Amino acid sequence: MENVMTEQFANDQLTQWDHDHFFHPSTHLGQFARREMGNRIIQSAKGVHITDREGRRSLDAFAGLYCVNIGYGHPEIAEAIAKQAHELAYYHAYVGHGTEASITLSRMIAERAPEGMNHVYYGLSGSDANETNVKLVWYYNNVLGRPEKKKIISRWRGYHGSGLVTGSLTGLDLFHKKFDLPLPQILHTEAPYFYRRADRDMDEAAFTAHCAAKLEEMILHEGPDTIAAFIGEPMLGTGGIVPPPAGYWDAIQTVLRKYDILLIADEVVTGFGRLGTMMGSDHYGLKPDLITIAKGLTSAYAPLSGSIVSDRMWEVLEKGTDEFGPFGHGWTYSAHPICAAAGVANLKLLDEQNLVANAGSVGAYLNETMAAAMGSHTHVGEVRGTGMLCAVELIKDRDDRVFFDPADKVAPRVVAAMLERGVIARAMPQGDILGFAPPFPLTRAQADEIVTATKDAVAQVLG
Ligand code: PMP
Repeated sequence: MENVMTEQFANDQLTQWDHDHFFHPSTHLGQFARREMGNRIIQSAKGVHITDREGRRSLDAFAGLYCVNIGYGHPEIAEAIAKQAHELAYYHAYVGHGTEASITLSRMIAERAPEGMNHVYYGLSGSDANETNVKLVWYYNNVLGRPEKKKIISRWRGYHGSGLVTGSLTGLDLFHKKFDLPLPQILHTEAPYFYRRADRDMDEAAFTAHCAAKLEEMILHEGPDTIAAFIGEPMLGTGGIVPPPAGYWDAIQTVLRKYDILLIADEVVTGFGRLGTMMGSDHYGLKPDLITIAKGLTSAYAPLSGSIVSDRMWEVLEKGTDEFGPFGHGWTYSAHPICAAAGVANLKLLDEQNLVANAGSVGAYLNETMAAAMGSHTHVGEVRGTGMLCAVELIKDRDDRVFFDPADKVAPRVVAAMLERGVIARAMPQGDILGFAPPFPLTRAQADEIVTATKDAVAQVLG
């Protein structure tokens, strides 16, 4: 057998093996295998740039999958990981075991979470953290003697992962069709997407009231005693990068409180600074019972996620184990020391380099300059965003609101034209939406580069 670990292989060889053996996630398998689409082998990265094996350098305006929040190539994190690997690469966290890194990180997360949220359970991905959250909600209601109160309400266009339960929570067709999802017990209500609201005569306040009314209608139709929790991203991410209409979270939380329904804030994207506040819940005034964290927790230097549990829920979980025995939920890699060490180093850097404030100010600049450059283009329906999240929604006919046929692949073509100009944007999976979520150290000059590449690429593809 060849020694694949030490040899350096030519790009052609790697490309051959890539097409033959690598089952890529979220990829058109047939096109990839038949080489109708290319591959890209990434070699290195520094700051906001990545470089591939052919030497092409790109400004990564999507921070990987909106996860490399502090930017690439920080030696402090590499060193923290190496130190932990040398000293103690692994020990489990079952039955009261921990490490300095996992304990310190728990304290740091609790300090950054909203008040009254002081307990952290660790996983490795946003998907498994949401899986944990659903189990916590079910356990909670069982301990409280409410075995019927189990359904979870999510939103169309919400994204919460791609496991069985979490793929069900996700409200995008692509993640359901041919996988026999969504599972029963998971429901979807109206997306808080003002630009795409069905009734064009509704103003923003009326649309917010409409979203809250639709939620209440669903709760009453199903029976409030059957609804356990509502899950939502403070601001829709993968479903289109859509800030909620004004007053949305107040209106939704009023309904949830009325029927004793728990709130899960999925902060996998918004957690640790992306909206310019430590948590998205701070930005929109959410008072969740559970918060999902992942991506920005380690800035993706190592895989780590978490469920932050409120004191109110915690009391019930404690009572449950007093009555029913140890908590029967655990992953081998919960609180993995190497990942926890990466998390500690990452959160320190976020503070030391004042990166949350930078995400707020340069993010606002990116949104303003993008709106100024693109807002009046005939094929731009809306430019929207908050903090270091920005979207440009492309449309065929702005006045009659006719969207492009997905078969025309307009957004993917624009994204390809941007890549030729050295900038990585993301074509969001549903609708022709260009997504931007750069690393937080982005400068204003780099924000200008993103806007210029967008403008030129849109002009090339759409005129
Ligand atoms: N929740 C949200 C809001 C996300 O954006 C994502 C990933 N994009 C997930 C959950 C799932 O995270 P992962 O891909 O790490 O499983």
